[in-house]
Amino acid sequence: MRSLENLLRKNREWAAQRKREDPQYFEKMRFQQNPEYLWIGCSDSRVPANEIVGLQPGELFVHRNVANVVVPSDLNCLSSITYAVNELHVKHVIVCGHYGCGGVKAALDDADVGLTENWLMHIREAHEAHFEEIEAIASYAEKLKRLCEVNVLEQVKNVSRLPVVKQAWKAKRDLTVHGWIYALEEGLIHDLHLKASNVEEAMAMRRLGKEKFRSRGD
Ligand SMILES: [Zn+2]
Repeated sequence: MRSLENLLRKNREWAAQRKREDPQYFEKMRFQQNPEYLWIGCSDSRVPANEIVGLQPGELFVHRNVANVVVPSDLNCLSSITYAVNELHVKHVIVCGHYGCGGVKAALDDADVGLTENWLMHIREAHEAHFEEIEAIASYAEKLKRLCEVNVLEQVKNVSRLPVVKQAWKAKRDLTVHGWIYALEEGLIHDLHLKASNVEEAMAMRRLGKEKFRSRGD
C-alpha cells in the first residue's frame, strides 16, 4: 500500500509555515469562522475554491459536488446552504462553474456513467431547457462551454428558489446570489452577470430571456 506520508509531511510543513508567519494563527482560527461567502462549486481538483479567490481558511464556506449542482432534494447541499445562510449569515452565495467540466461534458455526450447518471440528469435538464440554443452552436467545444454557463444559470435559479434564501430576503437580510464561471486555461473567473439580492431580482433572473443571457465573461 502506498503511504500517504508525503501528505502528512506537507501538512506539517504548511502548519509550521503558518506559525512562522503568525504565531497566533491557529489559536485565532479556532475561534474564527466568520465567512462572508458561500461557494458552491465543482468537485474538480483543478478548481480549488479558497486558492483561486485568494481567501484564507475561515473566510469562505464551501460546498462542492460534481458539476456544482443545486437540487432541492439534496440534503447535503441544502444543509450547507441553510447553515451558511442562517448560522454563519453569509452575505453572498456564489455558484461557480468551470469550463471543461467533466460532469457537464458527460451530460452533453449522453455518456453512460452508471450511478452518476442520477446526478447528471439535473444537468441534462439544463441542457433540455436550452436545447435549441446549444444545438444551434456548430463547434463541440463552444457547445460545451455554453452548457457549462447554462448549468450555472440553472443552479443559480435553483438557489434563488430555496425557502431558506427566500426567507432571508423576506426578512430584508443582506444576501446576494451570484453566477460565475472559471476558465481553467487562464485561471480567471468570469462574472456571468447573474445576480439576485431580493425576490424581485430573482424573479427577473428566472425570467431572463435566453437571448439576454449570452455574455461569456465580461
Ligand atoms: Zn466540473
